[in-house]
Amino acid sequence: MTNKTPEKTSVPAVENILSDLIKIQSVNPPGGEIAVAQYLKKLFDNYDIPNEIIEPEPGRASFIATLGEGEKKLLYLSHADVVPASEDWDFPPFSGEIKNGFVYGRGTIDCKGLVAIEASAVIQLAQTTKLNGKLIFAATADEEVGGDLGAGILSAKYPEKIMADFAINEGDEPLTINGKTYHCLSVGEKGPAWMKLTAKGISSHGSVPMLEQNAVVKMARVINGLARYRPHIVLTGETQRLLQTIARLDGITDAITEDNVDEVLGKLTDKEILPYLSAITRMTISPDVIHGGVKANIVPDTCEAQVDIRILPGQSWEYVLNELKEILGDVKVEQIQYHMPSFSSAECKYYSLVEETLKEFVGEAPILQTICTGATDSRYLREMGIPSYGISAMTLDVDKALSDSVHGKNEKIDIASLHVKTDFLVKLAKKYLTD
Ligand SMILES: [Zn+2]
Repeated sequence: MTNKTPEKTSVPAVENILSDLIKIQSVNPPGGEIAVAQYLKKLFDNYDIPNEIIEPEPGRASFIATLGEGEKKLLYLSHADVVPASEDWDFPPFSGEIKNGFVYGRGTIDCKGLVAIEASAVIQLAQTTKLNGKLIFAATADEEVGGDLGAGILSAKYPEKIMADFAINEGDEPLTINGKTYHCLSVGEKGPAWMKLTAKGISSHGSVPMLEQNAVVKMARVINGLARYRPHIVLTGETQRLLQTIARLDGITDAITEDNVDEVLGKLTDKEILPYLSAITRMTISPDVIHGGVKANIVPDTCEAQVDIRILPGQSWEYVLNELKEILGDVKVEQIQYHMPSFSSAECKYYSLVEETLKEFVGEAPILQTICTGATDSRYLREMGIPSYGISAMTLDVDKALSDSVHGKNEKIDIASLHVKTDFLVKLAKKYLTD
């Protein structure tokens, strides 16, 4: 924890803000994002930027600041919590050390790097630019475990505080295809439809097997069925364009349709991106937990499993149940977590503005319109009708090892990337809010 008051300079260095934020251990669970909110409050107060803290439960706080007034509204979103750090890091995960061109620690990429970048951009604009619209900064609580106490509460109870014409949030890391880096703008994300399954049987002595009444055997059949299930291909306009762009980069000119998508993907030279491309073109099912039985000689009467299912637009919880009806048979199904998939159109002026500005910083190579396989707070914004676009690292020579450290060990971010992205956000806000 730190109570350090951020230094008031003409423009605070983004890496110093990030270093301070890393030292605040807002690990979720349990969260403690209030310390981040209080730090940001002092920082923004220093520059007379109006702000407030929303604390729905003690210690669980989101921070919102606004700059400028006017009809147009742009939201810069990030989150203040981080996932836990394991014991096996090569450096202390919460030191926030700045060394050799990097800032080190849990959250440097996900997502305190973005908190620092967005804060730095807002402060820079406050000192240099008169906006004729409103720039909203929001660093939310609770993103890492679903966002109920952060973006969830904000969108449900205080929508007017974050309502904007469009928003920038965290997004997919750049993709490396045939050794070349392509930057992404995330335009959507799949919906989690996680289920808990319970198979029931009848307990008896294992020496007289009674396999038809064995709950573990019953669950094994279900799991096997789920693993063999062949999902339907779903191509949204955005996914179709993404695949078509990737195919063209590889010299493949076939028009991609739902009927030939696997055939065309099979022709790609770079096989490393196939699992991702496969996941964004169909519902995925991953049985990840199973528990059953108590002793080697007792026929188990209960077996439980948890399954991670992710759905695409046009699909729903009912769709999943209907598709898997025969496989699931009479096992009991309970919902662990369910969110509809969410998408923002790439065919609109906001997307074009973001893309065009991004290209000024990362070059003319195609920007990939990606779909996140995981979930972010963007879904709450999209449910409010706010087009939301996700961006990640922005240096030209992105090191893949950095993105692998997200939610993993040895997380760090290069300072050059922090600066480029700050400049990008300053430019984007100027373009939209000063003309
Ligand atoms: Zn995140």
